[in-house]
Amino acid sequence: MTKCILCGFDLLEGSQVCPHCGTSVAESLQKQKEEMERISSGDNAGCLAIVSFLFPIVGLIGFLVLIASKPRTAKLMGKAALLSTILSIVFSLIVAYMFSQ
Ligand SMILES: [Zn+2]
Repeated sequence: MTKCILCGFDLLEGSQVCPHCGTSVAESLQKQKEEMERISSGDNAGCLAIVSFLFPIVGLIGFLVLIASKPRTAKLMGKAALLSTILSIVFSLIVAYMFSQ
Protein backbone atom coordinates (compact mmCIF):
# COMPACT_ATOMS: atom_id res chain seq x y z
CA MET A 1 0.00 0.00 0.00
CA THR A 2 1.35 3.40 -0.98
CA LYS A 3 0.88 6.26 1.40
CA CYS A 4 0.66 9.93 0.54
CA ILE A 5 3.98 11.52 1.42
CA LEU A 6 2.28 14.69 2.62
CA CYS A 7 -0.71 13.54 4.68
CA GLY A 8 -0.13 9.77 5.07
CA PHE A 9 -3.44 8.89 3.46
CA ASP A 10 -3.57 5.32 2.06
CA LEU A 11 -3.61 5.61 -1.71
CA LEU A 12 -5.41 3.21 -4.02
CA GLU A 13 -3.44 1.33 -6.66
CA GLY A 14 -3.27 3.47 -9.81
CA SER A 15 -4.25 6.74 -8.16
CA GLN A 16 -2.73 9.80 -9.77
CA VAL A 17 -3.32 12.21 -6.94
CA CYS A 18 -4.00 11.83 -3.22
CA PRO A 19 -7.79 12.04 -2.71
CA HIS A 20 -7.18 13.61 0.68
CA CYS A 21 -4.79 16.47 0.00
CA GLY A 22 -4.30 16.44 -3.79
CA THR A 23 -0.56 15.73 -3.81
CA SER A 24 0.64 14.01 -7.00
CA VAL A 25 1.24 10.31 -6.38
CA ALA A 26 4.18 10.18 -8.79
CA GLU A 27 5.79 12.87 -6.69
CA SER A 28 5.09 10.89 -3.53
CA LEU A 29 6.60 7.73 -4.99
CA GLN A 30 9.66 9.65 -6.13
CA LYS A 31 10.12 11.12 -2.67
CA GLN A 32 9.66 7.73 -1.02
CA LYS A 33 12.23 6.24 -3.40
CA GLU A 34 14.69 9.02 -2.61
CA GLU A 35 14.07 8.53 1.10
CA MET A 36 14.68 4.78 0.82
CA GLU A 37 17.87 5.34 -1.17
CA ARG A 38 19.04 7.91 1.31
CA ILE A 39 18.46 5.50 4.21
CA SER A 40 19.97 2.43 2.52
CA SER A 41 22.97 4.28 1.12
CA GLY A 42 23.28 6.19 4.34
CA ASP A 43 25.84 5.81 7.04
CA ASN A 44 23.52 4.08 9.54
CA ALA A 45 22.74 7.40 11.18
CA GLY A 46 20.31 5.60 13.51
CA CYS A 47 23.10 3.53 15.05
CA LEU A 48 25.25 6.62 15.42
CA ALA A 49 22.37 8.41 17.12
CA ILE A 50 21.99 5.56 19.63
CA VAL A 51 25.73 5.57 20.33
CA SER A 52 25.56 9.36 20.76
CA PHE A 53 22.72 8.95 23.20
CA LEU A 54 24.66 6.39 25.26
CA PHE A 55 27.91 8.32 25.03
CA PRO A 56 27.14 12.04 24.58
CA ILE A 57 30.83 12.83 24.10
CA VAL A 58 30.81 10.61 20.98
CA GLY A 59 27.80 12.55 19.74
CA LEU A 60 29.53 15.85 20.34
CA ILE A 61 32.67 14.73 18.48
CA GLY A 62 30.57 13.20 15.69
CA PHE A 63 28.63 16.44 15.39
CA LEU A 64 31.80 18.51 15.06
CA VAL A 65 33.47 16.07 12.65
CA LEU A 66 30.48 15.40 10.39
CA ILE A 67 28.74 18.79 10.34
CA ALA A 68 30.49 19.78 7.09
CA SER A 69 30.25 16.50 5.17
CA LYS A 70 27.07 14.90 6.57
CA PRO A 71 24.97 17.60 8.23
CA ARG A 72 21.92 15.34 8.65
CA THR A 73 23.87 12.67 10.49
CA ALA A 74 25.77 15.29 12.46
CA LYS A 75 22.57 17.00 13.61
CA LEU A 76 21.02 13.65 14.55
CA MET A 77 24.08 12.78 16.65
CA GLY A 78 24.12 16.24 18.20
CA LYS A 79 20.44 16.01 19.11
CA ALA A 80 20.87 12.54 20.62
CA ALA A 81 23.82 13.73 22.68
CA LEU A 82 21.92 16.83 23.81
CA LEU A 83 18.85 14.79 24.73
CA SER A 84 21.00 12.35 26.67
CA THR A 85 22.72 15.21 28.52
CA ILE A 86 19.41 16.87 29.39
CA LEU A 87 17.94 13.58 30.61
CA SER A 88 20.95 12.84 32.79
CA ILE A 89 20.80 16.34 34.32
CA VAL A 90 17.07 15.97 35.00
CA PHE A 91 17.66 12.53 36.46
CA SER A 92 20.46 13.86 38.68
CA LEU A 93 18.22 16.66 39.92
CA ILE A 94 15.44 14.21 40.73
CA VAL A 95 17.84 11.94 42.63
CA ALA A 96 19.37 14.94 44.45
CA TYR A 97 15.88 16.18 45.35
CA MET A 98 14.83 12.76 46.65
CA PHE A 99 17.91 12.41 48.83
CA SER A 100 17.57 15.95 50.22
CA GLN A 101 14.24 15.10 51.82
ZN1 LIG B 1 -2.30 13.41 0.84
